[in-house]
Amino acid sequence: MKQKVIIIGSGFSSLAASCYLAKKGYEVIVLEKNKTIGGRARQLKKDGFIFDIGPTWYWMPDVFERFFNDFDKTPSDYYSLQKLNPAYKVYFGENDSISIADSLEKICEAFEKEEKGSSQKLKKFIAKAEDNYNIAIKDLVYRPGVSPLELVTPKTIKKLGYFLSTIRKDVRKEFNNQKLIQILEFPVLFLGAKPGDTPAFYNFMNYADFGLGTWHPENGMYSVIEGISSLSTELGVTFKTETNVEKIVVDNNKTSGVIANGKKIDADIVLSGADYHHSESLLDTKYRAYSESFWEKKTFAPSSLLFYVGFDKKIENVAHHTLFFDVDFEKHSEAIYDNPSWPEEPLFYASFPSKTDKNVAPDNCEAGIFLIPLAPGIEDNDEIRARYFDIIMNRFEQLTAQKVKNSVIFKESFCVKDFIKDYNSYKGNAYGMANTLLQTAFLRPKLKSKKVKNLYFTGQLTVPGPGVPPSLISGKLVTELIHQQKPI
Ligand SMILES: Cc1cc2nc3c(=O)[nH]c(=O)nc-3n(C[C@H](O)[C@H](O)[C@H](O)COP(=O)(O)OP(=O)(O)OC[C@H]3O[C@@H](n4cnc5c(N)ncnc54)[C@H](O)[C@@H]3O)c2cc1C
Repeated sequence: MKQKVIIIGSGFSSLAASCYLAKKGYEVIVLEKNKTIGGRARQLKKDGFIFDIGPTWYWMPDVFERFFNDFDKTPSDYYSLQKLNPAYKVYFGENDSISIADSLEKICEAFEKEEKGSSQKLKKFIAKAEDNYNIAIKDLVYRPGVSPLELVTPKTIKKLGYFLSTIRKDVRKEFNNQKLIQILEFPVLFLGAKPGDTPAFYNFMNYADFGLGTWHPENGMYSVIEGISSLSTELGVTFKTETNVEKIVVDNNKTSGVIANGKKIDADIVLSGADYHHSESLLDTKYRAYSESFWEKKTFAPSSLLFYVGFDKKIENVAHHTLFFDVDFEKHSEAIYDNPSWPEEPLFYASFPSKTDKNVAPDNCEAGIFLIPLAPGIEDNDEIRARYFDIIMNRFEQLTAQKVKNSVIFKESFCVKDFIKDYNSYKGNAYGMANTLLQTAFLRPKLKSKKVKNLYFTGQLTVPGPGVPPSLISGKLVTELIHQQKPI
């Protein structure tokens, strides 16, 4: 008889795990509390506009290829991709912006204009970043974080210096121009920590950025969720939405299933892709491996204030992805990491997918997504949200030299309280636990429960970490552990 696995949640990691487990012959049921699947990568549709609620940057296309290839498929069997040019644009002030094009050659030209001699330095920097990418993304991240020895290979021993230095130090060793420094420090923000707290080894994110480029799936990132869930359904997985798991049942140190919407559902194995802290709260205290003080001490990736805005006209002077780095980065990151509070002058990011994709907004309209990164756990109410909308709209109008406020048809917002309510996110974090040196690989919360047999975890709070590509990898890693172990 088939072993039955219940998966809690339907984010990228859970969906990936569901495919791998079904392929290995398990009976798989996915239980999702929300009305729709996708977790943080859900979709908002309103008045002819389509918005990705969470992720908008499709990076590391090779990881998506590798995922689908594991099922003898390719991403193009499920969605179509376009490489963005420019990949993104960064504003540093009025009439002061740099566009990052779709090839290293063109990016070198842009760098040279800002700092003489920087293009040669950039080529060398990216060559080293590519080398680290090949070690990290093609190999290390596919190890389950069970033992420190996983990180010790002939290749990584040579890279020890990169683990002892930080992105901040390495970038500043080579480049002097503040704008170039900010551009090169930007990709590690995806890992959830400050560049000064992120090991230099993670410069592989710079290769992901300049070497592999930024892509757009037609209709947005939710197409990828739809693609993977189609694959999952083809493999025989069952989905139950609006099914809230209230308890993970444990008898004699072994899980026998869950209680969802008040009813027991039996299973041989339970895998939770919900936030790790919440997943453990579904267990009696004695079965939790990590205490409240463990979570309290961890560096969490930021939360965010997001706005999904329908404009009744086309927006000028912006790219599909546009970053607003016109204020002090250090001060904003202090407000996120050192002294959790609302930033006085926020940096922000804006995405206009309708610049590339005519499906996501009505004709002559623009879909805009605005994101301010924030400290998890800070106060969140309608008045604060409205104030910050005004702050960024004023700056946006000034920097991009146009009026847009009167063209807003509607705006929806999403912030700390929604992350907690919708996803049971710890303190309302947006993208999990940061990848700092002490929160990397075997130092992250484990995929396999230390206290309960046949209970496993996946997702951005465990290995390898935050982001869509790591979540796909997490689903694969946990499946391998489950399969090795076999249920007892
Ligand atoms: C605003 C934002 C922007 C981002 N931008 C990018 C980006 O551009 N590129 C990128 O690669 N990554 C980005 N990320 C990160 C990326 O989206 C996440 O790392 C990834 O989607 C996390 O997937 P997951 O499977 O770990 O968890 P989740 O997506 O959080 O899935 C967990 C699921 O569990 C469900 N759940 C929770 N509790 C229960 C319960 N008791 N019962 C049943 N179900 C439950 C939740 O509803 C949810 O569906 C972004 C994230 C956010 C929030």
